[in-house]
Amino acid sequence: MIKVGITGGIGSGKSTACKVFSLLGIPVFEADIVAKQLMNTDPEIRSKLIDLFGTSVYLPVHTIDRKYLAGIVFNNASLLTQLSKIVHPEVHKSFENWCRNQQSPYILHESAILFETGFYKLMDKSIAVIANENQRIERVMKRDKITHELVKQRIKNQLNDEEKIKLADFVIGNNDHELIIPQIVEIDKKIRANG
Ligand code: ATP
Repeated sequence: MIKVGITGGIGSGKSTACKVFSLLGIPVFEADIVAKQLMNTDPEIRSKLIDLFGTSVYLPVHTIDRKYLAGIVFNNASLLTQLSKIVHPEVHKSFENWCRNQQSPYILHESAILFETGFYKLMDKSIAVIANENQRIERVMKRDKITHELVKQRIKNQLNDEEKIKLADFVIGNNDHELIIPQIVEIDKKIRANG
C-alpha cells in the first residue's frame, strides 16, 4: 500500500483537501487529531507533559489545554522539540497500527508538520497544499476566532511554502480563485497509476 503524506501551512486547506480524497474512498490518518487524543488518554504521555509543562497543561476535565500549550511552544523552540519527542513516536506507532487495517490502493497521512518532523521520509509520496499567507490568515482568524498576530506567530514556526513545494511530489493550489477538486482528481489518478 502506498503511503502519501499531505501537509500545508496553517489554514492552507489540508483538511479540506483530505475531505475530497475521502470522498474518493481514500482513508485519511489525521496525525494532529491522533496526537491530541493521545495527549488526552495515554497515561505515560500525560505524566511526561505534566513534568515538562506543569499541571496547568491539562484542564480540570483532564483534557489537554491546547491553547495554553500552543501559547508556550509557539514561543519556545526547545520546548516544542521536547513536546515532539514525547508525542511523535506514539503517533507513529498509532499510524503503523492503523495502516495494517486499511485496504486501499493508497492512504493519506495528514500532518501540519510533515516536513518539519522529517516524517515525510517514511512516506512514498507527499503532497503540499499551498495558499497565500493573507488568505490563510483570514481563513484561520474566521475559523478559530483568533487574532491576526496569533496566526502570524504560528506561521512563523512552520516551514515556508517554497521549501514545502521543493520537498513535495505534488502541489495543490488552494487560493480563492483555484479549484481543488480537479487538482485532487488528477493527483489521485497519478498515485493509483503508480501503485
Ligand atoms: P490547520 O492547519 O489550521 O488545521 P488546514 O490546512 O487543515 O488548517 P482547513 O481547516 O482545511 O485548513 O481550512 C481552513 C479554513 O479555511 C476552514 O474554515 C476552511 O473551511 C476554509 N477554506 C479552505 N479552503 C478554502 C477555499 N478554497 N476558499 C475559502 N475557504 C476555504
